[in-house]
Amino acid sequence: MSAQLFDGAKIAQQIYDELMVEIESLRQAKHPPGLAAVLVGDNPASRIYVNRKVAACARLNVVSRKVELPQSAATRDVLRAVDALNEDDSMDGILVQLPLPPQIDEKEILARVRPDKDVDGLHPLNIGALVMGTHRWAPCTPSGVMEMLRRSGVEVAGRRAVVLGRSRLVGHPLAILLMHANATVTICHSKTRNLPAVSREADLLVAAIGRPLMITEEFVKPGATVIDVGISKVTDGETVRKVFHSVPERMKEFDAKQYVIVGDVNPVSVEKVAGRLSPVPGGVGPLTIAMLIHNTVRAAKMRHGV
Ligand code: NAP
Repeated sequence: MSAQLFDGAKIAQQIYDELMVEIESLRQAKHPPGLAAVLVGDNPASRIYVNRKVAACARLNVVSRKVELPQSAATRDVLRAVDALNEDDSMDGILVQLPLPPQIDEKEILARVRPDKDVDGLHPLNIGALVMGTHRWAPCTPSGVMEMLRRSGVEVAGRRAVVLGRSRLVGHPLAILLMHANATVTICHSKTRNLPAVSREADLLVAAIGRPLMITEEFVKPGATVIDVGISKVTDGETVRKVFHSVPERMKEFDAKQYVIVGDVNPVSVEKVAGRLSPVPGGVGPLTIAMLIHNTVRAAKMRHGV
């Protein structure tokens, strides 16, 4: 048996096609949607992510603004930048790219973003609304996972879902969304005992732990749907050869770049038992940005009563 793969890029394109119609009607109504990204410091991955988000805005005719602050910025500098964007009527969505440098009070910053512009869904009021099921939108990566499941016809209601990871950004909000979608949800984390056995109970297993290639077939019930949220760079040739020696494209990729991008799931092992699997790259990744634009369009429509 070989698992059927989800096509994240194709699903993201479907979402973009729908959004383009809504963006055009907002522009016609003289309310072009706008998204601001606050980038603090010089974390190379954060810069890549922000640039991708800005590029997606450009493709879709969404106004974007990148506000950059130096690595040495203080909490008050970031608060000032957020305040200005809160007041800026041309910006419907504000995202503060995480992680922030260690001297900055992340909680204070996230709580300062106007809740109706908080398109990442990380303001305490928005998290509270998510828990209560009264949210206007949810954090982008968990929303992307839900869209992937919904648009691929994966049944969630009544199924056993196991979420590996309980982070504020991914695992925790995703578990809540799955619960609202009537799955029976188990949340696992670094203190969970006998992770493979708990994982094997899942009809739907989501890995969001940031441990490259850790999830192997022994974690997966035969036929289960496995969603891999992890994104890691593996540079160790021995590991790459051990896992991907039978996959010529991945070996070629490694030879060319001296690294491969992988998820938390060992795809070669898990593909043998899973029914469906979201690959890395090309799975959940493209959906995160699509849902960010989705949330921005939603914010624009709500703010302008369109
Ligand atoms: P995070 O904040 O580091 O959280 C990791 C979670 O996994 C924590 O809850 C941690 O448990 C748990 N964990 C770590 N090691 C574990 C282990 N050996 N067994 C069981 N649980 C373990 O990470 P994150 O921000 O949620 O991101 C997770 C992964 O998703 C990363 O690879 C990240 O790059 C990726 N990601 C992808 C996207 C996307 O667009 N596809 C977006 C965001 C993140 P404790 O709580 O006990 O510490």
